[in-house]
Amino acid sequence: MKESAYNLCARDADGNLYLFNTRRGSVHLMAADAYVAYRAAASSGAADVEDAAETRRKLIDKGFLVDDDADELAEIIAAHQQARESREQLDLLIAPSMACNLDCFYCFESNRYAGRMRAEVQSNVERFVRRCFGSGTKRLDVTWYGGEPLLAFSVVEKLSERFLSVCEEFGGGYSAQIVTNGTLMSREKARRLASWKVKRAQITLDGPPELHDARRVPKNRKPTFYAILDGIEAAAAHMPVTLRINVCRKVAARLEELLQILAARGLNRVVSAYMAPLQRVTPMSSPALPSHDAQLDALDGREAADLGLRFNDLLWKYGFAVSHRLPEPRCTACMADKAHSFLIEANGDVQKCYWTAGLRAEAAGRLTADGIVFLEPHRKWQEWTASRPAECLHCIMLPVCLGRCPLRHLNRQSDYCPPIKHNWIRMLARTARVPEEQLVPVQLPLAGANVGSSPSGRELPTDLHN
Ligand code: SF4
Ligand code: SF4
Repeated sequence: MKESAYNLCARDADGNLYLFNTRRGSVHLMAADAYVAYRAAASSGAADVEDAAETRRKLIDKGFLVDDDADELAEIIAAHQQARESREQLDLLIAPSMACNLDCFYCFESNRYAGRMRAEVQSNVERFVRRCFGSGTKRLDVTWYGGEPLLAFSVVEKLSERFLSVCEEFGGGYSAQIVTNGTLMSREKARRLASWKVKRAQITLDGPPELHDARRVPKNRKPTFYAILDGIEAAAAHMPVTLRINVCRKVAARLEELLQILAARGLNRVVSAYMAPLQRVTPMSSPALPSHDAQLDALDGREAADLGLRFNDLLWKYGFAVSHRLPEPRCTACMADKAHSFLIEANGDVQKCYWTAGLRAEAAGRLTADGIVFLEPHRKWQEWTASRPAECLHCIMLPVCLGRCPLRHLNRQSDYCPPIKHNWIRMLARTARVPEEQLVPVQLPLAGANVGSSPSGRELPTDLHN
């Protein structure tokens, strides 16, 4: 056996070892004396000594040791390619309307176009779903998106009923969620959405009231913070709610204040929250407005990584559900990476990435009565992995990241790494429930002395000393 190329290792002051394998998403803790005994047995070829054999078995089971002839990178690339091409599940992000009742300054969709899905487009969507099921698709996952989908509630109703009926006819699975700004959510709407198998709502806040109300503004400029809290409560009466908190530097400094307000209202018991650093991602044909960059006040990758950990600590402090889990290996990078995943706009344009929503020049296709007619921009999404830098293919985080964002690579942006690249050791400390300052990264042989004991030669993350 040889060592996996995807092992990360840290040691505490007592010599105990904390191992994380990014390929399997597995963690293994090894006491200092167990490691000494295991190495002594492995190096002398006496790995059948009982304790050492048990350790070795665990290292193999958890993927820290792999077969001598395993080509892990080739296996990762092959599995990724297979998952990209799978037609087993159809994922549709559907904009029943491209209109929105808010006018957030950073919204990449603003001023692109507004419009509601016509009956003809709705019929084409249903036909497309039916055709997919007819050719082997087993389940449909829908995300209601926009614009603001609740502005076209009757379209959501009609299409939901059609999808449920097609899935029943073909014996296929169905799930749905909704991404809404929450201002139009009521208990009655939430109840009806739940009756159409909408199983989760995602609603966004932009910080405590004063900051939020300056950013998530309706056309009439009235404050929205507390109206959105009402919407969250209404949705939570019928489905789990995920609260997305958009974060720039200003909001980062006041996250605790926001969580205090939410907890005082009891929302800590009914929502799960995550933070989304505002980022500049520019679709190819649409250069960012110059004013955007300054206004965005965006965090850089390292700041976002630091804040992510602090945010989790704050969630814990204020009684929100919190997970300190290390990331799992991914099958695909995102919706744009999957062949059977589409954003269908109200006008029937088909996009592969939500950042290009509303940009006709970027449309990957048009939905017709005969299915999707693909257009030239579709090709770049099919071939995006060719733009992934060599750094990704030599990166120990590849299994949990796969390169993260195809659009950034296509745009040749340099800031493509996710927070885990910067904060893996602190995440590992939290998973193992040890103080993060006690862990230091190490590279240790895990295989026998004469069987592949030198770790992989792959690059470890550059930020090992967090
Ligand atoms: S390509 Fe990037 S921006 Fe587009 S959906 Fe994927 S991760 Fe998101
Ligand atoms: S962490 Fe960065 S370098 Fe590594 S695979 Fe992800 S995007 Fe690529």
